[in-house]
Amino acid sequence: MSPPTPHEPPRPRPVRERPLVERVASPRRAGRRRPPAIVLRDVSKTYGLGAIEVRALQHVTLQIARGDFAAIMGSSGSGKTTLMNILGCLDLPTRGRYLIDGVDIRDMDEDDLADLRNRKIGFVFQSFNLVARTSALANVELPLAYAGFDRRARRQRAQQALAAVGMARRTHHQPSELSGGQQQRVAVARALVTNPTMILADEPTGNLDSHSTEEVLRIFAGLNQEGRTIVLITHEPDVAAQAKRVITLGDGRVIDDRRTAGLHDQPPVLHRQKSAHHLYGETHR
Ligand code: ADP
Ligand code: MG
Repeated sequence: MSPPTPHEPPRPRPVRERPLVERVASPRRAGRRRPPAIVLRDVSKTYGLGAIEVRALQHVTLQIARGDFAAIMGSSGSGKTTLMNILGCLDLPTRGRYLIDGVDIRDMDEDDLADLRNRKIGFVFQSFNLVARTSALANVELPLAYAGFDRRARRQRAQQALAAVGMARRTHHQPSELSGGQQQRVAVARALVTNPTMILADEPTGNLDSHSTEEVLRIFAGLNQEGRTIVLITHEPDVAAQAKRVITLGDGRVIDDRRTAGLHDQPPVLHRQKSAHHLYGETHR
């Protein structure tokens, strides 16, 4: 019998195989393979439909499987944030189709889309976007208030999420009392508190030192290991190397797309950790 591990923070419920969009089971669908989490078909996004047009995305066709960990790379202005806004249903493509779990977003009403954004997708941004002069706990509880959880459930789940990112002892600190790395961990807790199946992160390590970057990447790797789909935007090759697939944008187009680790493999950062752990175990045998 294995002893309890009191130092291990409670983890949110695993999400493996949970779809982003719940659909009524139909016999027609039974036995069919699940569609990818994300399908973009010939998606273009043009800003400023007037005198000056900016073609931020051009004919992007892309699939991301459920449980994948994809990095989106590209230089500044290549369309990364535009792509994330579309993936997160924060913005609509000018042309082309976007299917989430096989469902075209054009077939969803505002309520469906709001639900998707609030509960199924967790967002993490470069500048953390925490509410100032508000405790870490209250920041993490915020999405749960929108999702209609009662006070007790909000508190409990927010505490769990903060523990999962190693911030259990900082629940009453305000953002200004936390380091950048700690603020980003609070932001990650806020992103995962609704138990989303997909995490979208736009340059989440862009303002962090290398130690905090490593911590945040480890948390993402753990979330992916639980079955969550992760899309991580970065322009840093070291950060992209922690994903299982690297998609590169150039001038609003996909110019490169390579798989760097198997879809069902552990993310590289955990693999490294495990090897180290293994060696440690050997020397103590
Ligand atoms: P990245 O995140 O890779 O730096 P963005 O997606 O932010 O790139 O931007 C892609 C292109 O679209 C850039 O040329 C940018 O100036 C332009 N752009 C982004 N957002 C807007 C907007 N709201 N209005 C007009 N142009 C925009
Ligand atoms: Mg950007």
